[in-house]
Formats: sequence, structure tokens, C-alpha cells
Amino acid sequence: MEYKQQVEQQLRSSGVQPTKQRMEIGILLLATPQHMSADQILGELRTAGSRVSKATVYNTLNLFACRGLVREVSVDSTRQFFDSTIHPHHHFYNIDTGKLTDIGIDELEFSQLPELPSGTEAQDVEVIVRVRNKH
Ligand SMILES: [Zn+2]
Repeated sequence: MEYKQQVEQQLRSSGVQPTKQRMEIGILLLATPQHMSADQILGELRTAGSRVSKATVYNTLNLFACRGLVREVSVDSTRQFFDSTIHPHHHFYNIDTGKLTDIGIDELEFSQLPELPSGTEAQDVEVIVRVRNKH
């Protein structure tokens, strides 16, 4: 199947109507395992000649995250990435380069989790290991 059709099917099966602009964003972001910020996506689309608005990019990414097409990863209150890898995994975040890379779920093991608040169950544990370049 052609890649474009794959993306269209992926959107439809997640209940997202594949409009022209959603397709542009989907084709870019879902192509490979990658982490992109909304501004990066906007920049790449604009460079490619798209006239998509910033609001559309933000709304579409939030919709994709809400429908489980991408995962949202917040490294701090001002930096959010959208991750095309949706299965559970952890991340390295390089504070010098601003780059996020994956850590496989098997590469990190917890010997002990704290006792959970009563009446709750663990849904998900997500770790961001912040690193910086050695000088
Ligand atoms: Zn990731």
C-alpha cells in the first residue's frame, strides 16, 4: 500500500477525518519513529510550501494525541514533543541539544515502586533521563 494511503487509513481507524491539512501533518510525523515539536512540524510544512496555520498544527497534534495516533512527551513546561512511537517507552532528553531519544522499555528496570495511594492502580510509568554533553 502506498504510504499516503496507509496514513489515511491510520487516521480513519482512529476516528480522525483525514482533511488535507491533517494528512500533511500525519504524512510528516508518522513517517518514521521520531519526536517533533509543533514548531518543528510547522517549520517543515512551511518549507515544503504548505500554508497550514499554527493553530491548525497545534489543534491537529492535540487531536492526534487524544486519539492515540501519537504520544505527547513534555520535557518541561515549555517544551512538548509529539512522538510517533506510541508503545510504552522512556526517553533521554539532552538539555544541550534539545534532542529526545528513545530508551527501550526493557532497558530500564525498577527494583521498587513506592506504595501507591490507596484506591489507585499504576497506569503507566514514564521516565525522562535528562543528560547534558560532557565539556
Ligand atoms: Zn519516544
